Amino acid sequence: MHHFHYRDNHLFCEDVPVSQIAEAVGTPFYLYSRATLERHFKAFESAFSGARRLICFSAKANSSLAVLTLLRNLGAGLDIVSGGELYRGLCAGFPADRIVYSGVGKRVDEIDEALAAGIRMFNVESLGELRCIDQRAAALGKTAPVAIRVNPDVDPGTHPYISTGLKKNKFGIDMETSLEAYALARDLPHVEAVGIDCHIGSQITQVAPFRDALASLMTLVVRLREMGLAIRYLDMGGGLGITYGQEAPPHPDEYARAIVAATGDSDLELILEPGRVIAGNAGILVSRVLYNKAGMAKHFVVADAGMNDLLRPTLYQAYHAISPVRYRGGKTIVADVVGPICESGDFLALDRTIEAPVEGDLLAVMSAGAYGFTMGSNYCSRLRVAEVMADGGHFEVIRSRQTYGDLTAGETVPSFLSAGATKI
Ligand SMILES: *Cc1c(COP(=O)(O)O)cnc(C)c1O
Repeated sequence: MHHFHYRDNHLFCEDVPVSQIAEAVGTPFYLYSRATLERHFKAFESAFSGARRLICFSAKANSSLAVLTLLRNLGAGLDIVSGGELYRGLCAGFPADRIVYSGVGKRVDEIDEALAAGIRMFNVESLGELRCIDQRAAALGKTAPVAIRVNPDVDPGTHPYISTGLKKNKFGIDMETSLEAYALARDLPHVEAVGIDCHIGSQITQVAPFRDALASLMTLVVRLREMGLAIRYLDMGGGLGITYGQEAPPHPDEYARAIVAATGDSDLELILEPGRVIAGNAGILVSRVLYNKAGMAKHFVVADAGMNDLLRPTLYQAYHAISPVRYRGGKTIVADVVGPICESGDFLALDRTIEAPVEGDLLAVMSAGAYGFTMGSNYCSRLRVAEVMADGGHFEVIRSRQTYGDLTAGETVPSFLSAGATKI
């Protein structure tokens, strides 16, 4: 359930007409609904209400300060994958002990920053990383709390790029080697193994893969406790899918029931790292139609938003519903909705039946609140778009559109080139 709906054929976000925001801020822009973000977080959190748990929102899904602050105010923790996300999390006021840090390639400086902040747990993805964290903790006079990210070799049944829990994926440590990793953690003086972690993929629309992964993890927990390790946290990662089109993912209640049932009386505190399920349907990308280009083979609707603004269609052939900001009640066409980028892979939708737009019309690309803005880039020297949050009948810009000055900020032309230039 989200708060984007039509009144008299006009799309509203909560009680604000989307067209009114477009007039005020220009296009393209991301638009988030505060009520939807809150509703999704609360639904997820309350699904686990019977269990000891920490819900760590996955920052890479949407790391805008306003979104992070909203979730922090609701009591969320944060799942980070970089020093930059740690910085954002601390800026948004997350207590460090509610932050967990995942990722296969943590650098020394990032590890140091997380140790200095005092995060809850490092989710460690290799033996080398474990040794590195031990050394850095020794240098800083600390003990690092760690979990091993176990790769349980289950197929989450999702797009290959967002499957992470198969043996062939770069993530985590396989079941056999993880025992070795925990033995190493036990022997290293400056790490303490406090948890076990997995994250098997994203946009998972069934409970079974989670249940399978959990069964493997629970067997491991027993072994680890026999080894004398005091495992307190079980981090199940994120991955719960959402409805973009026809998918029917499990409700958080069903997902939570499966997890809580499988952890039983193990006395583990659960950590969950949801991203998409909180933010995905809480945001849209609003774009203006520049041109209708009816070729012989296809009808192209050229929009002012492209793959640099929303990469998911290009990267994953992902489906996003395209909705008119105002229904005209006109005829429908089958069209490719494309962006202005010089790539044939630059599209928002292919062969899509939509109401024929008139040049200048506004389109809403739905379900764009997760992995939307965060995956954006400046490709083709296009400005990063604005972000807006609506709250009831009110809206505010939460990130202003970049300016041309932002594009060249930090760049320098080396002296040997500028000297040459002045000689001419
Ligand atoms: C991306 C990611 C998540 C969030 O995944 P969603 O599918 O958005 O819930 C959680 N944990 C880790 C380690 C991740 O990389």
